[in-house]
Amino acid sequence: MTTDTKPQTETRTFQMLIDGQWVGAKSGETFERINPANGSLLGTFPYGGNDDVDVAVDAARRVFDEGKWSEAPAKQRHDVLRKVAEKMRAEMPQLGNLLAQEVGKPIGMAMAEISMAADVYEYYAGVTLDLKGEAITQFVPDAVGLTVHEPVGVVGVITPWNFPVLLLSWKLAPALAAGCTVVAKPAQLTSATTIELGRIIQEAGAPDGAMNVVTGSGSKIGQYMAEHPKIDKIAFTGSTEVGKTVMQAASSNVKKISLELGGKSPNIIFADANIDAAVAGAFFGIYLNSGQVCQAGSRLPVHESVKDEFMEKLLGFTKTVKMGDPLDPTTTMGPVVDQNQLATVERYVAVGNDEGAKLIVGGSRPEGNGLENGFFYEPTIFDGVVNDMTIAQEEIFGPVLSVLTFKDMDEALRIANDSMYGLAAAVWTKDLNTALKMAKGIKAGTVWVNAYHQAGMPFMPYGGYKQSGTGRELGRQGLEEYMETKAIQIKLN
Ligand code: NAP
Ligand code: MG
Repeated sequence: MTTDTKPQTETRTFQMLIDGQWVGAKSGETFERINPANGSLLGTFPYGGNDDVDVAVDAARRVFDEGKWSEAPAKQRHDVLRKVAEKMRAEMPQLGNLLAQEVGKPIGMAMAEISMAADVYEYYAGVTLDLKGEAITQFVPDAVGLTVHEPVGVVGVITPWNFPVLLLSWKLAPALAAGCTVVAKPAQLTSATTIELGRIIQEAGAPDGAMNVVTGSGSKIGQYMAEHPKIDKIAFTGSTEVGKTVMQAASSNVKKISLELGGKSPNIIFADANIDAAVAGAFFGIYLNSGQVCQAGSRLPVHESVKDEFMEKLLGFTKTVKMGDPLDPTTTMGPVVDQNQLATVERYVAVGNDEGAKLIVGGSRPEGNGLENGFFYEPTIFDGVVNDMTIAQEEIFGPVLSVLTFKDMDEALRIANDSMYGLAAAVWTKDLNTALKMAKGIKAGTVWVNAYHQAGMPFMPYGGYKQSGTGRELGRQGLEEYMETKAIQIKLN
C-alpha cells in the first residue's frame, strides 16, 4: 500500500451531508480545525444548529418510514456495505492522510485505522445476509411462535476524536446493516473524516437521507440529538461525564442507548510472563495514539520479583520513541489532539508528582525540530504508584503510564477491580490457572491474555462494565443493539 505523505496545502471547506445534499449551516456559521502537529489550518466546517439537526432527522425518519432502506432486500444493504469497504480501501492514501492530520496520529496508524474500519463494513455486509429469527413450534400443539428482528429506526451517532473513523464505523456498519437510518455528529476536532465517510456511504448507494452528517458543538447539537423525540436510539462513544448527560437526555422518549465510555485499564504482568513480549505489550498498550485510547493500558501492575528487569527493558523501549510530523513515516508518536488535552496531561503529571509517585521518564514537552509548534508531550512513566492515587484512578488520556507493584494473584485482582471503570484488562502469564482465574475475576468487558489492544479477533463484542458504559459493539451483539425483537404468537384452530 502506498502512503500519501504530503501535507495538505490548501485549507478545505467542508459541508454537512443532509438528505443527500451538501449544505452549510442554516445560520451560515462555521468553525475551524487546526493540525495539532504544527498549528496550521486544516479545514472549515459548518457550525450546525438545532434547525439543521431537525432537517437531517426528518430526512432519516422519512427514508426509514418509507422502507427504502429498512425494508430493502438484504442483498441491497449487503452490496452497499461491501462497496463502502471497497471504496475505503481504494481511497486509503487520501483518507489516511486526512486522518493523520486531523488527529495527529502517525500515518501508518491512520492507514491501519482505515483498514480496520473497512473490515467492519465487510463483516456486517456478511451478517446482513444472515439475519434471521426463531420459530417455536413444539411448546404447545396448537400455537406457533415467531421471533423477528426489526431495525430500531433513526439512530443518532455521536463519536469522539481519538479513533474517529473506527469508532464511527463500529456504529454505522451495524446500524445500516440492520436497516436503520443515521444522523451522525462527529467531534468538532475530527469532523473531516466523518464527512468523507458520509460521502463514501452515499456514493456506495445508500438512499438520500439514509446517512446524514451534521457538524457542530456537542453540548448544543449533540445534546439536542440525545433529547430529540424523533431519534429512536443514540450510539455514543466519549467520556463518562458526557455519557451520563446523554443517558439522562435520552430518557425524554426512552431511547435505546449504547455508551462506550472511559477506562483505566490494568495491564498485569505476572512473574512467569514472557517478559520481552509483555514489555512490548505494555509499551503499545499505553503509547498507541499518544495514550488517547479509551482502553489504554494506563495502569501497569508488575509482580515484584520481575519488576527491575521489566522496568529496565520498558525504559529502553520508551527511549526509542520518535516524535514528529505524523506524515513522516519514521514518526512513531504524534502530538495529543489539542491544547486542552495537553493541559490535562500536564495537570495530571503535576498531581502525580504532588501525590508522591516517582517520575522516571518524560514529564515535559519536547523541544526542538519544530515540536514546540504542536501539542507534543513526552512518553511519561510514573513508578511507585499506589492504586488510590489520582493517577491510578482517573483517566488521563495521554502518554502517561502508572506503574504499580504486587505480590500475589489476590493483590493483582484487588488492584484490577479497584476502579470505577471496567472497560478492558490484560494478563501476562504462561500459567493457565492464573490466566483463567484472573480473566474470570476481572470486572471488565474485555480481558486479553498475553496480548494488548487485540489478540487478532476483531469482531468480538466490545463494551464496558461499571462506568465504562452499557451495551456492546461489534459481533452479532453489536448488531442486536440496532434491532427490536418482536414476538408473534399464532393460535392454530
Ligand atoms: P467527549 O467530550 O465525551 O465527546 C464525545 C462526543 O460527544 C463528541 O462528539 C462531543 O462533541 C459530544 N458531546 C459533548 N458534549 C455533549 C453533550 N452534552 N451531549 C451530546 N454529545 C456531546 O469525549 P472526547 O473528548 O471526544 O473523547 C475523550 C473521551 O472519550 C475519553 O474520556 C475516552 O475515554 C472516551 N472514549 C471512550 C471510548 C470507548 O470506546 N469506550 C473510545 C474513545 C474515547 P464535541 O467534541 O464537538 O464537543
Ligand atoms: Mg470533549
